[in-house]
Amino acid sequence: MTENYDLHCHSTASDGTLSPTELVRRAYEHGVTSLALTDHDTVSGISEAQAAATATGIKLIPGIELSTSWQNKCFHIVGLGIDPAYPPLREATRNLQIMRTERAEKIAYKLEKKHIPGALEAVKKAAGEGMITRTHFADFLLSQFHVSTQQEAFDRYLGTGKAAYVPTIWAEMELAVSWIIQSGGVAVLAHPLRYKLTASWMKRLLAAFKEAGGLGIEVVTGRYNSDEIKLVAGYATRFELAGSVGSDFHSPDNQWVELGRLAPLPPNIKPVWELLN
Ligand code: AMP
Ligand code: MN
Ligand code: MN
Ligand code: MN
Repeated sequence: MTENYDLHCHSTASDGTLSPTELVRRAYEHGVTSLALTDHDTVSGISEAQAAATATGIKLIPGIELSTSWQNKCFHIVGLGIDPAYPPLREATRNLQIMRTERAEKIAYKLEKKHIPGALEAVKKAAGEGMITRTHFADFLLSQFHVSTQQEAFDRYLGTGKAAYVPTIWAEMELAVSWIIQSGGVAVLAHPLRYKLTASWMKRLLAAFKEAGGLGIEVVTGRYNSDEIKLVAGYATRFELAGSVGSDFHSPDNQWVELGRLAPLPPNIKPVWELLN
C-alpha cells in the first residue's frame, strides 16, 4: 500500500468545520494512511480522533499547531507526535484558551465600534468548547453580510493592522518549541511562505528555530505550487531540516484544499515522519 501522509489539519476543536471523527473518516476516504490532527493551540480533539482512527484503520499522529511570537511577529509551529497528556503542554493550552477568549472580547469590541454588534456571542456559540479563532469572526461577518468572502473579512477587518485587528503576544517561539520537544514531539515550522518574510528574515527565523530545537519545515502544503515547493526545499536543505507535508485542511467548503491531496516531498528531502516513532 502506498503511504499517504497528511500532517496538518483542523477539526471543530479549533477552526475546522468537521468533528475529529468526520475529519478522520474523510481522510480515510481520500486515501490518507497517516493523519496528524493539529488544531490551533489545543489537543482536545485528539482522543476522539484517535478512537475514529483505530476504528477506521488509519494511523493518527497526535499533533498541535501552536501560535507563537518571535521578534514581535506571529509564527505557527506544528508539533507532531506529541503526548497530549504532558502537563506543561496542557497548561499552555489552558493559558492559550484564556488568551484567545480575551482577544475575542477585544476583537468584538472593535467590531462594535464599527457598528457590527453581536460578534462575541456568535463566535462563542460557534466555537463551543473549542478555541475561538479569527476564522470564527470571519464566518460571523460573512453570515451577517458584512463581507462576501472569508478573505474579505481578513482584508477589511481581521488581518494585521485592519479595523478589528488585535495584536497578540503569544508564547515565545523558543518556549513553544520546548513544550513540543519535552512532550516527545517534533517541532515543524508551519507554512513558511505565509509570513511574507524577506530572504534575510527567513534565514534569521530558521536559524532561531533550529537553535530552539526545531527539526522540520512544511515543504509541501495545500496551496504551494512547484516553484514554492522548490524554494522551501532549498531552505530545508540549507538548514538541515526534515520536510513535512500537510494540507492545512479546514473545511470541505474550500474546494482548493483537500485532505491527502498533496504534491510529493522532493526526493532529496528527509521526510519528517522518519523522525517520529
Ligand atoms: P487566529 O489563530 O485566531 O489568528 O486565526 C488564524 C486562522 O485564520 C488561520 O489558521 C486561518 O485558518 C485563518 N486565516 C488567516 N488569514 C486568513 C486569510 N487571509 N483568509 C482566510 N483565512 C485566514
Ligand atoms: Mn486555522
Ligand atoms: Mn497556521
Ligand atoms: Mn493550520
